[in-house]
Amino acid sequence: METMTFEKLINKVKEYNECEIEYITKAYNFASKHHEGQVRKSGEPYISHPLAVTYILASMKADRDTLCAGLLHDVVEDTDVTLDDLRFEFNDTVAKLVDGVTKMNKINFNSKQEMEDANTRKLITSITKDARIIIIKLADRLHNMRTLEFKSENKQIENSIETLEIFIPLANHIGAYKIKRELEDLVFYYLNKETYKRLKEEVNDFQKKAENSTDEMIYTLTKELYNHEINSRIEKEMRSIYSIYKDLQEFNKLEDIHNLLSLKICVDEIKDCYYSLGLVHSKYIPLANRFKDYICQPKTNMYQSLHTTVFGNDGYLVQTKIRTNDMDRIATYGLTGYWDVLKGKAGSEMQKDLNNKFQFYKTLQDINDLVENNEEFVEVVKNEVLNKNIYIYTTTGLIIELPYGSTPLDFAYKIGLEYGKNACAFMVDGELVPLNYKLKNNQIVKIIEGPKKIDETIDINQIVTTKAKTYVKKLTNTNEN
Ligand code: MN
Repeated sequence: METMTFEKLINKVKEYNECEIEYITKAYNFASKHHEGQVRKSGEPYISHPLAVTYILASMKADRDTLCAGLLHDVVEDTDVTLDDLRFEFNDTVAKLVDGVTKMNKINFNSKQEMEDANTRKLITSITKDARIIIIKLADRLHNMRTLEFKSENKQIENSIETLEIFIPLANHIGAYKIKRELEDLVFYYLNKETYKRLKEEVNDFQKKAENSTDEMIYTLTKELYNHEINSRIEKEMRSIYSIYKDLQEFNKLEDIHNLLSLKICVDEIKDCYYSLGLVHSKYIPLANRFKDYICQPKTNMYQSLHTTVFGNDGYLVQTKIRTNDMDRIATYGLTGYWDVLKGKAGSEMQKDLNNKFQFYKTLQDINDLVENNEEFVEVVKNEVLNKNIYIYTTTGLIIELPYGSTPLDFAYKIGLEYGKNACAFMVDGELVPLNYKLKNNQIVKIIEGPKKIDETIDINQIVTTKAKTYVKKLTNTNEN
Protein backbone atom coordinates (compact mmCIF):
# COMPACT_ATOMS: atom_id res chain seq x y z
CA MET A 1 0.00 0.00 0.00
CA GLU A 2 1.20 3.46 -0.86
CA THR A 3 2.21 5.72 1.99
CA MET A 4 -0.17 8.60 2.49
CA THR A 5 1.35 12.07 2.20
CA PHE A 6 0.14 15.41 3.43
CA GLU A 7 0.07 16.67 -0.14
CA LYS A 8 -2.37 13.96 -1.21
CA LEU A 9 -4.57 14.72 1.77
CA ILE A 10 -4.61 18.44 1.05
CA ASN A 11 -5.53 17.85 -2.58
CA LYS A 12 -8.45 15.72 -1.43
CA VAL A 13 -9.61 18.41 1.01
CA LYS A 14 -9.31 21.10 -1.66
CA GLU A 15 -11.88 19.21 -3.74
CA TYR A 16 -14.58 20.50 -1.41
CA ASN A 17 -13.04 22.93 1.07
CA GLU A 18 -10.47 25.47 -0.14
CA CYS A 19 -10.62 27.91 2.70
CA GLU A 20 -9.55 26.04 5.82
CA ILE A 21 -6.30 24.53 4.59
CA GLU A 22 -4.20 26.67 6.92
CA TYR A 23 -5.86 25.40 10.09
CA ILE A 24 -5.60 21.80 8.89
CA THR A 25 -1.92 22.32 8.03
CA LYS A 26 -1.37 23.52 11.59
CA ALA A 27 -2.92 20.31 12.92
CA TYR A 28 -0.72 18.26 10.62
CA ASN A 29 2.45 20.06 11.74
CA PHE A 30 1.48 19.63 15.38
CA ALA A 31 0.75 15.89 15.01
CA SER A 32 3.82 15.34 12.89
CA LYS A 33 6.08 17.03 15.45
CA HIS A 34 4.72 14.99 18.36
CA HIS A 35 4.74 11.62 16.59
CA GLU A 36 8.29 12.33 15.40
CA GLY A 37 10.49 9.24 15.68
CA GLN A 38 7.55 6.83 16.18
CA VAL A 39 7.28 4.03 13.66
CA ARG A 40 4.39 1.75 12.71
CA LYS A 41 4.71 -2.05 12.54
CA SER A 42 4.90 -1.64 8.75
CA GLY A 43 8.10 0.38 9.16
CA GLU A 44 6.44 3.60 8.00
CA PRO A 45 6.67 6.77 10.08
CA TYR A 46 3.74 6.90 12.51
CA ILE A 47 2.25 10.08 11.00
CA SER A 48 1.33 8.06 7.87
CA HIS A 49 -1.49 6.51 9.94
CA PRO A 50 -3.28 9.71 11.07
CA LEU A 51 -2.78 11.01 7.53
CA ALA A 52 -4.47 7.94 6.04
CA VAL A 53 -7.31 8.14 8.58
CA THR A 54 -7.87 11.80 7.76
CA TYR A 55 -7.80 11.01 4.04
CA ILE A 56 -10.68 8.57 4.59
CA LEU A 57 -12.53 11.35 6.46
CA ALA A 58 -11.83 13.80 3.65
CA SER A 59 -13.32 11.31 1.17
CA MET A 60 -16.53 11.70 3.17
CA LYS A 61 -16.15 15.47 2.98
CA ALA A 62 -15.67 15.84 6.72
CA ASP A 63 -15.69 19.30 8.26
CA ARG A 64 -12.55 21.12 9.45
CA ASP A 65 -12.60 20.09 13.11
CA THR A 66 -13.14 16.44 12.23
CA LEU A 67 -10.18 16.55 9.85
CA CYS A 68 -8.02 18.13 12.57
CA ALA A 69 -9.17 15.53 15.08
CA GLY A 70 -8.32 12.83 12.53
CA LEU A 71 -4.77 14.14 12.26
CA LEU A 72 -4.49 14.48 16.03
CA HIS A 73 -6.46 11.39 17.05
CA ASP A 74 -3.52 9.47 18.52
CA VAL A 75 -1.47 12.28 20.09
CA VAL A 76 -3.09 12.10 23.52
CA GLU A 77 -2.90 8.31 23.71
CA ASP A 78 0.59 7.92 22.26
CA THR A 79 2.53 11.12 23.05
CA ASP A 80 2.77 13.50 26.00
CA VAL A 81 0.27 15.97 24.53
CA THR A 82 -2.77 16.61 26.76
CA LEU A 83 -6.35 17.51 25.91
CA ASP A 84 -5.73 20.95 27.42
CA ASP A 85 -2.88 21.43 24.94
CA LEU A 86 -5.29 20.67 22.10
CA ARG A 87 -7.92 23.01 23.51
CA PHE A 88 -5.31 25.75 23.73
CA GLU A 89 -3.69 25.16 20.32
CA PHE A 90 -6.93 24.40 18.44
CA ASN A 91 -10.40 24.54 19.94
CA ASP A 92 -12.84 22.85 22.26
CA THR A 93 -14.47 20.71 19.55
CA VAL A 94 -11.17 19.29 18.34
CA ALA A 95 -10.22 18.46 21.94
CA LYS A 96 -13.61 16.81 22.56
CA LEU A 97 -13.40 14.71 19.40
CA VAL A 98 -9.88 13.53 20.26
CA ASP A 99 -10.97 12.81 23.83
CA GLY A 100 -13.78 10.64 22.44
CA VAL A 101 -11.41 8.42 20.47
CA THR A 102 -8.77 8.20 23.20
CA LYS A 103 -8.76 5.03 25.31
CA MET A 104 -9.13 5.34 29.08
CA ASN A 105 -6.14 5.18 31.34
CA LYS A 106 -5.07 1.66 32.29
CA ILE A 107 -4.48 2.53 35.94
CA ASN A 108 -8.21 2.92 36.57
CA PHE A 109 -8.95 -0.77 36.02
CA ASN A 110 -8.36 -4.05 37.83
CA SER A 111 -8.31 -6.31 34.80
CA LYS A 112 -7.85 -6.18 31.04
CA GLN A 113 -11.45 -7.29 30.52
CA GLU A 114 -12.79 -4.51 32.74
CA MET A 115 -10.79 -1.96 30.79
CA GLU A 116 -11.93 -3.33 27.45
CA ASP A 117 -15.60 -3.27 28.47
CA ALA A 118 -15.28 0.30 29.69
CA ASN A 119 -13.59 1.35 26.45
CA THR A 120 -16.17 -0.41 24.31
CA ARG A 121 -18.92 1.35 26.22
CA LYS A 122 -17.13 4.66 25.80
CA LEU A 123 -16.82 4.08 22.06
CA ILE A 124 -20.44 3.04 21.55
CA THR A 125 -21.96 5.79 23.69
CA SER A 126 -19.73 8.47 22.16
CA ILE A 127 -22.35 8.66 19.43
CA THR A 128 -24.73 10.22 21.96
CA LYS A 129 -22.20 13.01 22.54
CA ASP A 130 -20.99 13.63 19.02
CA ALA A 131 -21.51 11.25 16.09
CA ARG A 132 -18.27 12.46 14.55
CA ILE A 133 -16.35 10.49 17.19
CA ILE A 134 -17.71 7.20 15.84
CA ILE A 135 -16.93 8.30 12.32
CA ILE A 136 -13.30 9.04 13.21
CA LYS A 137 -13.16 5.68 14.99
CA LEU A 138 -14.53 3.92 11.92
CA ALA A 139 -11.92 5.59 9.71
CA ASP A 140 -9.24 4.66 12.26
CA ARG A 141 -10.42 1.05 12.33
CA LEU A 142 -10.62 0.88 8.54
CA HIS A 143 -6.99 1.96 8.15
CA ASN A 144 -5.87 -0.39 10.92
CA MET A 145 -7.67 -3.26 9.18
CA ARG A 146 -6.12 -2.31 5.85
CA THR A 147 -2.68 -2.59 7.43
CA LEU A 148 -3.41 -5.60 9.62
CA GLU A 149 -0.92 -7.83 7.77
CA PHE A 150 1.89 -6.31 9.84
CA LYS A 151 0.36 -7.45 13.13
CA SER A 152 0.68 -10.85 14.79
CA GLU A 153 -1.82 -13.55 13.92
CA ASN A 154 -3.42 -13.29 17.35
CA LYS A 155 -3.94 -9.57 16.95
CA GLN A 156 -5.33 -10.11 13.46
CA ILE A 157 -8.00 -12.44 14.76
CA GLU A 158 -8.74 -10.34 17.84
CA ASN A 159 -9.15 -7.14 15.79
CA SER A 160 -11.20 -8.89 13.12
CA ILE A 161 -13.67 -10.27 15.64
CA GLU A 162 -14.05 -6.89 17.33
CA THR A 163 -14.58 -5.27 13.94
CA LEU A 164 -17.23 -7.84 13.08
CA GLU A 165 -19.07 -7.53 16.38
CA ILE A 166 -18.89 -3.78 16.95
CA PHE A 167 -17.67 -1.67 14.04
CA ILE A 168 -19.47 -3.30 11.12
CA PRO A 169 -22.88 -3.19 12.82
CA LEU A 170 -22.27 0.43 13.81
CA ALA A 171 -21.34 1.30 10.23
CA ASN A 172 -24.53 -0.43 9.14
CA HIS A 173 -26.67 1.46 11.65
CA ILE A 174 -25.43 4.83 10.46
CA GLY A 175 -25.76 3.65 6.86
CA ALA A 176 -22.05 3.95 6.00
CA TYR A 177 -22.19 1.14 3.45
CA LYS A 178 -18.92 1.96 1.72
CA ILE A 179 -16.93 1.50 4.92
CA LYS A 180 -19.05 -1.47 5.95
CA ARG A 181 -18.38 -3.33 2.70
CA GLU A 182 -14.63 -2.85 2.91
CA LEU A 183 -14.50 -3.83 6.58
CA GLU A 184 -16.56 -6.95 5.88
CA ASP A 185 -14.15 -8.19 3.27
CA LEU A 186 -11.08 -7.43 5.37
CA VAL A 187 -12.57 -9.29 8.34
CA PHE A 188 -13.64 -12.23 6.20
CA TYR A 189 -10.16 -12.40 4.68
CA TYR A 190 -8.41 -12.50 8.05
CA LEU A 191 -10.82 -14.95 9.63
CA ASN A 192 -11.08 -17.35 6.73
CA LYS A 193 -8.45 -16.73 4.05
CA GLU A 194 -9.02 -19.89 2.02
CA THR A 195 -12.78 -19.49 1.70
CA TYR A 196 -12.42 -15.78 1.01
CA LYS A 197 -9.99 -16.33 -1.85
CA ARG A 198 -11.95 -19.18 -3.36
CA LEU A 199 -15.28 -17.36 -3.22
CA LYS A 200 -13.80 -14.12 -4.55
CA GLU A 201 -12.50 -15.99 -7.55
CA GLU A 202 -15.84 -17.70 -8.14
CA VAL A 203 -17.70 -14.39 -7.92
CA ASN A 204 -15.23 -12.74 -10.31
CA ASP A 205 -15.63 -15.58 -12.80
CA PHE A 206 -19.39 -15.36 -12.57
CA GLN A 207 -19.40 -11.61 -13.06
CA LYS A 208 -17.06 -11.93 -16.02
CA LYS A 209 -19.28 -14.54 -17.60
CA ALA A 210 -22.23 -12.18 -17.19
CA GLU A 211 -20.32 -9.09 -18.29
CA ASN A 212 -21.67 -8.89 -21.85
CA SER A 213 -25.16 -9.21 -20.52
CA THR A 214 -24.84 -6.49 -17.87
CA ASP A 215 -22.93 -4.16 -20.24
CA GLU A 216 -25.67 -4.53 -22.78
CA MET A 217 -28.23 -3.72 -20.13
CA ILE A 218 -26.40 -0.55 -19.12
CA TYR A 219 -26.23 0.47 -22.77
CA THR A 220 -29.92 -0.20 -23.42
CA LEU A 221 -31.12 1.55 -20.25
CA THR A 222 -28.85 4.56 -20.74
CA LYS A 223 -30.27 5.02 -24.24
CA GLU A 224 -33.84 4.47 -23.08
CA LEU A 225 -33.55 6.98 -20.24
CA TYR A 226 -31.86 9.50 -22.50
CA ASN A 227 -34.66 9.15 -25.06
CA HIS A 228 -37.12 9.98 -22.31
CA GLU A 229 -35.05 12.99 -21.25
CA ILE A 230 -34.01 11.60 -17.91
CA ASN A 231 -30.55 12.53 -16.74
CA SER A 232 -28.96 9.37 -15.42
CA ARG A 233 -25.78 7.67 -14.36
CA ILE A 234 -25.71 3.88 -14.38
CA GLU A 235 -23.03 1.87 -12.62
CA LYS A 236 -22.38 -1.70 -11.63
CA GLU A 237 -22.56 -2.16 -7.88
CA MET A 238 -20.15 -4.45 -6.10
CA ARG A 239 -21.19 -6.43 -3.07
CA SER A 240 -18.83 -7.56 -0.37
CA ILE A 241 -17.61 -11.14 -0.68
CA TYR A 242 -18.69 -11.60 2.93
CA SER A 243 -22.31 -10.68 2.23
CA ILE A 244 -22.35 -13.10 -0.70
CA TYR A 245 -20.90 -15.76 1.58
CA LYS A 246 -23.75 -15.18 4.01
CA ASP A 247 -26.32 -15.42 1.20
CA LEU A 248 -24.83 -18.73 0.14
CA GLN A 249 -25.85 -20.29 3.46
CA GLU A 250 -29.40 -19.74 2.26
CA PHE A 251 -29.22 -20.19 -1.50
CA ASN A 252 -26.50 -22.82 -2.04
CA LYS A 253 -25.57 -21.75 -5.57
CA LEU A 254 -24.18 -18.41 -6.77
CA GLU A 255 -26.61 -18.47 -9.71
CA ASP A 256 -29.55 -18.48 -7.31
CA ILE A 257 -28.63 -15.25 -5.54
CA HIS A 258 -30.93 -12.72 -7.10
CA ASN A 259 -28.68 -9.71 -6.49
CA LEU A 260 -25.24 -11.03 -7.28
CA LEU A 261 -25.33 -8.83 -10.35
CA SER A 262 -26.42 -5.37 -9.46
CA LEU A 263 -26.82 -2.07 -11.27
CA LYS A 264 -27.58 1.29 -9.79
CA ILE A 265 -29.31 4.03 -11.69
CA CYS A 266 -28.90 7.51 -10.25
CA VAL A 267 -31.24 10.24 -11.41
CA ASP A 268 -31.97 13.85 -10.41
CA GLU A 269 -35.43 13.71 -8.87
CA ILE A 270 -37.74 11.32 -7.06
CA LYS A 271 -40.31 11.34 -9.83
CA ASP A 272 -37.57 10.27 -12.24
CA CYS A 273 -36.99 7.20 -10.06
CA TYR A 274 -40.52 5.91 -10.60
CA TYR A 275 -40.48 6.82 -14.28
CA SER A 276 -37.18 4.96 -14.69
CA LEU A 277 -38.64 1.97 -12.88
CA GLY A 278 -41.39 1.82 -15.47
CA LEU A 279 -38.83 1.96 -18.26
CA VAL A 280 -36.75 -0.82 -16.69
CA HIS A 281 -39.83 -3.03 -16.37
CA SER A 282 -40.90 -2.31 -19.92
CA LYS A 283 -37.53 -3.56 -21.20
CA TYR A 284 -36.87 -6.41 -18.76
CA ILE A 285 -39.32 -8.71 -17.04
CA PRO A 286 -39.30 -8.24 -13.26
CA LEU A 287 -39.03 -11.18 -10.90
CA ALA A 288 -42.15 -11.37 -8.73
CA ASN A 289 -41.75 -10.47 -5.04
CA ARG A 290 -38.40 -8.78 -5.52
CA PHE A 291 -39.64 -5.23 -5.81
CA LYS A 292 -39.04 -2.96 -2.82
CA ASP A 293 -39.83 0.70 -2.40
CA TYR A 294 -37.34 2.04 0.12
CA ILE A 295 -38.06 5.57 -1.09
CA CYS A 296 -41.52 5.69 0.47
CA GLN A 297 -40.36 3.46 3.27
CA PRO A 298 -36.69 4.13 4.05
CA LYS A 299 -34.68 1.53 5.93
CA THR A 300 -34.15 2.30 9.60
CA ASN A 301 -30.69 3.62 8.72
CA MET A 302 -32.25 6.08 6.25
CA TYR A 303 -31.24 4.16 3.14
CA GLN A 304 -33.53 5.04 0.23
CA SER A 305 -33.81 3.40 -3.16
CA LEU A 306 -36.12 1.39 -5.39
CA HIS A 307 -35.07 -2.23 -5.79
CA THR A 308 -36.24 -4.51 -8.53
CA THR A 309 -34.72 -7.73 -9.79
CA VAL A 310 -35.25 -8.40 -13.48
CA PHE A 311 -34.43 -11.10 -15.99
CA GLY A 312 -31.53 -9.65 -17.96
CA ASN A 313 -30.13 -11.05 -21.19
CA ASP A 314 -29.08 -14.70 -21.29
CA GLY A 315 -31.23 -15.48 -18.27
CA TYR A 316 -29.07 -13.65 -15.73
CA LEU A 317 -30.93 -12.10 -12.83
CA VAL A 318 -29.91 -8.49 -12.32
CA GLN A 319 -30.92 -6.39 -9.36
CA THR A 320 -31.55 -2.80 -10.36
CA LYS A 321 -31.45 -0.06 -7.75
CA ILE A 322 -32.92 3.28 -8.67
CA ARG A 323 -32.35 6.40 -6.56
CA THR A 324 -31.65 10.10 -6.72
CA ASN A 325 -28.08 11.41 -6.49
CA ASP A 326 -28.80 12.72 -2.99
CA MET A 327 -30.05 9.31 -1.89
CA ASP A 328 -26.97 7.77 -3.42
CA ARG A 329 -24.72 9.93 -1.28
CA ILE A 330 -26.60 8.82 1.85
CA ALA A 331 -26.50 5.20 0.62
CA THR A 332 -22.72 5.41 0.29
CA TYR A 333 -21.73 7.45 3.32
CA GLY A 334 -24.81 7.21 5.54
CA LEU A 335 -25.05 9.80 8.26
CA THR A 336 -21.88 11.43 6.95
CA GLY A 337 -23.59 12.00 3.62
CA TYR A 338 -25.13 15.05 5.24
CA TRP A 339 -21.69 16.59 5.75
CA ASP A 340 -21.43 17.69 2.20
CA VAL A 341 -24.51 19.83 2.40
CA LEU A 342 -24.11 21.30 5.81
CA LYS A 343 -20.37 21.82 6.29
CA GLY A 344 -19.92 24.01 9.36
CA LYS A 345 -23.08 22.90 11.16
CA ALA A 346 -22.44 19.22 10.44
CA GLY A 347 -21.98 18.19 14.08
CA SER A 348 -25.23 19.51 15.48
CA GLU A 349 -27.25 18.65 12.36
CA MET A 350 -26.08 15.05 12.47
CA GLN A 351 -26.98 14.82 16.14
CA LYS A 352 -30.47 16.09 15.36
CA ASP A 353 -30.85 13.56 12.55
CA LEU A 354 -29.68 10.73 14.74
CA ASN A 355 -32.29 11.61 17.30
CA ASN A 356 -35.17 12.02 14.88
CA LYS A 357 -34.52 9.46 12.19
CA PHE A 358 -32.26 6.63 13.27
CA GLN A 359 -34.05 4.01 15.39
CA PHE A 360 -31.04 2.30 16.90
CA TYR A 361 -30.06 5.58 18.51
CA LYS A 362 -33.03 5.65 20.88
CA THR A 363 -32.51 1.99 21.78
CA LEU A 364 -28.88 2.71 22.56
CA GLN A 365 -29.83 5.61 24.79
CA ASP A 366 -32.41 3.47 26.63
CA ILE A 367 -29.91 0.71 27.28
CA ASN A 368 -27.33 3.24 28.39
CA ASP A 369 -29.83 4.60 30.92
CA LEU A 370 -31.03 1.21 32.14
CA VAL A 371 -27.78 -0.74 32.43
CA GLU A 372 -25.10 0.43 34.82
CA ASN A 373 -22.51 -2.33 34.72
CA ASN A 374 -20.10 -2.03 31.74
CA GLU A 375 -19.79 -5.74 31.07
CA GLU A 376 -23.56 -6.13 31.03
CA PHE A 377 -23.90 -3.03 28.87
CA VAL A 378 -21.58 -4.42 26.20
CA GLU A 379 -23.41 -7.75 26.29
CA VAL A 380 -26.85 -6.17 26.00
CA VAL A 381 -25.84 -3.79 23.20
CA LYS A 382 -24.27 -6.63 21.26
CA ASN A 383 -27.47 -8.69 21.59
CA GLU A 384 -30.09 -6.01 21.16
CA VAL A 385 -28.52 -3.43 18.87
CA LEU A 386 -25.53 -4.86 17.02
CA ASN A 387 -26.77 -8.38 16.42
CA LYS A 388 -29.28 -9.57 13.84
CA ASN A 389 -32.45 -7.47 13.78
CA ILE A 390 -35.98 -8.03 12.56
CA TYR A 391 -38.32 -5.39 11.12
CA ILE A 392 -41.95 -5.36 12.18
CA TYR A 393 -44.82 -3.18 11.01
CA THR A 394 -47.27 -1.28 13.17
CA THR A 395 -50.87 -1.21 11.96
CA THR A 396 -50.19 2.23 10.48
CA GLY A 397 -47.21 0.98 8.48
CA LEU A 398 -44.33 2.23 10.60
CA ILE A 399 -41.32 -0.08 10.67
CA ILE A 400 -40.00 -1.04 14.08
CA GLU A 401 -36.51 -2.46 14.46
CA LEU A 402 -36.18 -5.20 17.08
CA PRO A 403 -33.61 -7.79 18.05
CA TYR A 404 -34.00 -11.26 16.60
CA GLY A 405 -36.31 -13.42 18.72
CA SER A 406 -38.45 -10.52 19.98
CA THR A 407 -42.03 -11.09 21.11
CA PRO A 408 -45.07 -8.83 20.65
CA LEU A 409 -44.56 -7.35 24.13
CA ASP A 410 -41.00 -6.32 23.18
CA PHE A 411 -42.57 -4.63 20.18
CA ALA A 412 -45.11 -2.81 22.34
CA TYR A 413 -42.50 -1.47 24.76
CA LYS A 414 -40.30 -0.43 21.88
CA ILE A 415 -43.08 1.80 20.58
CA GLY A 416 -43.69 3.33 23.98
CA LEU A 417 -44.18 2.60 27.67
CA GLU A 418 -47.93 3.15 27.55
CA TYR A 419 -48.32 0.57 24.79
CA GLY A 420 -46.44 -2.02 26.78
CA LYS A 421 -48.30 -1.34 30.01
CA ASN A 422 -51.79 -1.39 28.52
CA ALA A 423 -51.41 -4.31 26.15
CA CYS A 424 -53.53 -7.32 26.95
CA ALA A 425 -53.23 -9.37 23.77
CA PHE A 426 -51.64 -9.24 20.34
CA MET A 427 -52.64 -10.03 16.81
CA VAL A 428 -49.94 -10.85 14.31
CA ASP A 429 -50.96 -10.72 10.65
CA GLY A 430 -54.58 -10.86 11.76
CA GLU A 431 -54.35 -13.79 14.17
CA LEU A 432 -54.23 -13.88 17.94
CA VAL A 433 -50.86 -15.19 19.11
CA PRO A 434 -49.54 -16.44 22.47
CA LEU A 435 -47.38 -14.04 24.48
CA ASN A 436 -44.22 -16.00 23.79
CA TYR A 437 -44.73 -15.79 20.04
CA LYS A 438 -41.45 -15.07 18.21
CA LEU A 439 -41.95 -12.35 15.62
CA LYS A 440 -40.70 -12.75 12.07
CA ASN A 441 -39.57 -10.15 9.56
CA ASN A 442 -42.28 -8.00 7.93
CA GLN A 443 -45.16 -9.14 10.13
CA ILE A 444 -47.82 -6.66 11.19
CA VAL A 445 -48.56 -6.48 14.90
CA LYS A 446 -51.74 -5.11 16.38
CA ILE A 447 -51.77 -4.32 20.08
CA ILE A 448 -55.06 -5.02 21.83
CA GLU A 449 -55.62 -3.02 24.99
CA GLY A 450 -57.81 -4.19 27.80
CA PRO A 451 -58.28 -4.61 31.53
CA LYS A 452 -56.54 -7.99 31.77
CA LYS A 453 -52.97 -7.33 32.91
CA ILE A 454 -50.29 -8.96 30.82
CA ASP A 455 -47.66 -8.84 33.54
CA GLU A 456 -49.67 -11.35 35.59
CA THR A 457 -49.28 -13.99 32.93
CA ILE A 458 -46.00 -13.20 31.23
CA ASP A 459 -42.87 -15.12 32.10
CA ILE A 460 -40.06 -12.60 32.03
CA ASN A 461 -37.79 -15.07 30.27
CA GLN A 462 -40.12 -14.98 27.32
CA ILE A 463 -39.27 -11.39 26.50
CA VAL A 464 -36.04 -10.30 24.97
CA THR A 465 -35.40 -6.59 25.22
CA THR A 466 -33.95 -4.96 28.30
CA LYS A 467 -36.51 -2.18 28.15
CA ALA A 468 -39.51 -4.54 28.23
CA LYS A 469 -37.92 -6.70 30.92
CA THR A 470 -37.15 -3.72 33.13
CA TYR A 471 -40.69 -2.39 33.02
CA VAL A 472 -42.40 -5.74 33.38
CA LYS A 473 -40.27 -6.37 36.47
CA LYS A 474 -41.30 -2.99 37.87
CA LEU A 475 -44.98 -3.71 37.22
CA THR A 476 -44.78 -7.13 38.82
CA ASN A 477 -43.06 -5.72 41.91
CA THR A 478 -45.68 -3.02 42.36
CA ASN A 479 -48.46 -5.57 42.18
CA GLU A 480 -46.94 -7.66 44.92
CA ASN A 481 -46.83 -4.74 47.34
MN1 MN B 1 -5.26 5.36 15.35
